[in-house]
Amino acid sequence: MKNFNFDLEKAKKINNKINAIIEFTRIDGNKDGKYYSTPFLVKDNIQVKGTKNTCASKILENYNSTYTATAVERLLNAGFTVMGKTNLDEFAMGGSNETSAFGAVKNPWDLKRIPGGSSGGSAAVVAAKIVPFALGSDTGGSVRQPASFCGIVGFKPTYGAISRYGLSAFASSLDQIGVLSRNVENAAIVAEIMSGRDENDSTTLDIKWDLTSNLNKEIEGLKLAIPKEIFELEGIDKKVLDMFKDNIKSLKNAGIIVEEVSIPHLKYTVSIYYIIAPSEASSNLSRYDGIRFGLRKEEKTIKTTYMKTRDNGFGMEVKRRIFMGAFTLSSAYYDAYYAKAAKIRNLLNNDFEKIFENYDAVLTPTSPILPPKFGELKSPLQYYLMDLFTIPANMIGAPAISIPSGKIDNLPFGIHLISKPIEDAKLLRAAKQLENIFGILDLPEVL
Ligand code: GLN
Repeated sequence: MKNFNFDLEKAKKINNKINAIIEFTRIDGNKDGKYYSTPFLVKDNIQVKGTKNTCASKILENYNSTYTATAVERLLNAGFTVMGKTNLDEFAMGGSNETSAFGAVKNPWDLKRIPGGSSGGSAAVVAAKIVPFALGSDTGGSVRQPASFCGIVGFKPTYGAISRYGLSAFASSLDQIGVLSRNVENAAIVAEIMSGRDENDSTTLDIKWDLTSNLNKEIEGLKLAIPKEIFELEGIDKKVLDMFKDNIKSLKNAGIIVEEVSIPHLKYTVSIYYIIAPSEASSNLSRYDGIRFGLRKEEKTIKTTYMKTRDNGFGMEVKRRIFMGAFTLSSAYYDAYYAKAAKIRNLLNNDFEKIFENYDAVLTPTSPILPPKFGELKSPLQYYLMDLFTIPANMIGAPAISIPSGKIDNLPFGIHLISKPIEDAKLLRAAKQLENIFGILDLPEVL
């Protein structure tokens, strides 16, 4: 990672093909830092002073960051250099990058396919070898699912491990900054530097995270749990299941214990996510009113100014989420939707707690499908289902990671591990152990 050479001309040429970078800028880190001049890119919903912070939305198209997020500040202190900002689904709402106001990102493996999302730009720049790592945010899978679709590693730490100060809020009880990188080691190094208590985010944990010192030590008798529901739920591609079964065989051959368990509430995760996340989003996004930030469509009254600004500034998917969230939080429906979803969230947590008494991690495919072609998915529901396996980690605040475990029809395939909250170091060790078995994928040449 240290000697990675950032070639601006080449990066621009590649970007013309994949549309992954919204803004090129150079912000140098601390000259005395260990990683001085190592380049990285930042998802454009994380504030970096000296760059815009568009959230890939028209409403913030001309908004300049007024400060630098704590996570980025810590990387700059360690010497890393910000090279720009990456494209995403508008306000991180989406799993395909198609909701960006600046056009979709393309998957470096096949330009006709989606890169996943919402951190699709961050995944694509790593897969296209522009930078060794990029930052993303993960509310329901936005670091891990694009990592899987682009053949790289995506790590979402425990909720509260990394400060959200400077991350544009989507669903505050689920949001977490994460790392997209070529391998597990780099994800661990970068996350460790970003982690730790921050006075500017009261949800950060007061822990001195050590994610790297034992990374290469194998966990003896590593025990993984597979939810048996995977083989029963609808909407999972047969090719994905076959590959997953194949992966399990390789793990067992390598001496890893893999057993089936039950996660009875797994089947509700997508439903409760699409109540909880939009509810929080509808509240968080109320700040974009044309008065304080970004776009303003001046009208005669304050109310019509709000309406016109928001109608012009937000895209379809963001509006859909705001509508859903306003509905599920409304006094007539609160108990039927939000309160109920919160209860199921607790039950899901109980399911996982039980499993973590006996297992080091829960193993699933990262996504139930392979990266689809643009236009292949028809309804919002099909998009929402892509997060079936990644959402639980956000719901229970647990660390989770996607690593590549092979290819199907020349498309990358990723598997996913969730460990108990705070056990990020153990999760990364397990991931490293699996990476040693499956290897690191050779990445495609875009030019
Ligand atoms: N794809 C999910 C959504 O559309 C997750 C997004 C995220 O993690 N930011 O909400």
